[in-house]
Amino acid sequence: MIDIKEIEDKYIANIYHKRPIAINKGKGIKLWDIDGKEYLDCMGGWGVSSVGHSHPDLVQAITNQAQTLITCTGTLYNPVRAKLGEKLCSISPKGLNQVFFTNSGAEAIECAIKLARKYTGKSEIIAFKKAFHGRTFGALSATWKPKYKKPFEPLVPGFKHVGQNIDEISQNIGPNTAAILIEPIQGEGGVIIPKLDFINSLQELCKKNNILIIADEIQAGMARTGKMFSSEHFNLFPDIMCVAKGLAGGFPIGATLAKNEIWESLNKGEHGSTFGGNPLACAAGIATINIIEKEKIIDNVKIKGNYFIEELKKLQTKYNSIREIRGVGLMIAMEFRFPTKDIILNAVEKGLLVLPTGINVIRFLPPLTITKKEIDQVLNILETVLHDLEQ
Ligand SMILES: *Cc1c(COP(=O)(O)O)cnc(C)c1O
Repeated sequence: MIDIKEIEDKYIANIYHKRPIAINKGKGIKLWDIDGKEYLDCMGGWGVSSVGHSHPDLVQAITNQAQTLITCTGTLYNPVRAKLGEKLCSISPKGLNQVFFTNSGAEAIECAIKLARKYTGKSEIIAFKKAFHGRTFGALSATWKPKYKKPFEPLVPGFKHVGQNIDEISQNIGPNTAAILIEPIQGEGGVIIPKLDFINSLQELCKKNNILIIADEIQAGMARTGKMFSSEHFNLFPDIMCVAKGLAGGFPIGATLAKNEIWESLNKGEHGSTFGGNPLACAAGIATINIIEKEKIIDNVKIKGNYFIEELKKLQTKYNSIREIRGVGLMIAMEFRFPTKDIILNAVEKGLLVLPTGINVIRFLPPLTITKKEIDQVLNILETVLHDLEQ
């Protein structure tokens, strides 16, 4: 570990709060460090490892595709890209019938912003307080947190941030408003679940004012919340949708979906990507969706998610340090009454990896294949961490 830490600290840009472990192997929800110590992974690479680490079908699909064709520009047709496009549109909310593939979530957001501006001929986008949409300039401008943005100003003009309140949104709509950009369930914001009424009113408001709805499903999509897309919990039908994290089970990919009349507003050559839609990423995407369907992952998420949340709520009644448990499916937050940094590090020592969210929330985004037994193991470790804390 000492060697690797030294080399990384020397040669890799030091931009992350790192846990002091070096991981080199994964299987299912387990990870191993280079000394062979085992960890239960509730980070899932930030919600990316949807079907578990190194799922055999995913490994096979990537291996086969790598032996056949790795790269193929979007200016040539490719059967694997065609197949993932068809598949993804078929599982997406109605109306989203064409897709553009990217390599990341932020790129999918950039594409959505360009598309909304071009189609409507308007430039303003309304986003929400606590929203997270990525780190590139357009996506960053749509993100809320001042800490992420301030040092890099000036940002892209035309973005406003509002609370989840219909009056406030109405007041911010003007003649130049192109779209509302929303995470139906906020992730980085701390797993914030809106009221059904709010989403209903938002949809009406947008329809009335001819404003597009862009759903950022990058974290909450692909079965994470017990529906294929979190919009389905609210009967939300976006005009544009962004997907990424879990889409290819860990392989880098992103996607922007929209109605084809919206896509038709782009002239040829006005958008593009060198790597986006490459056969290797698309093969990983197809394999991931197939696993989700074959293994009835959505049912597993509903059952295991409910169980996990209920058990965490039981812990909350025992430990006063826990302020609130929030979650849908396997997108779960545990809010504490104080900063969680020590809790997270103590958990690492005991073999459990969880995500920080803000300073006083920890988040669980485990692989969606997690079993009841594994959840019990997670809860056991968590309980010893909480117990230590109260000592
Ligand atoms: C992670 C995330 C992004 C950014 O995705 P990257 O692949 O890191 O660019 C955008 N929106 C949401 C909701 C996310 O969780």
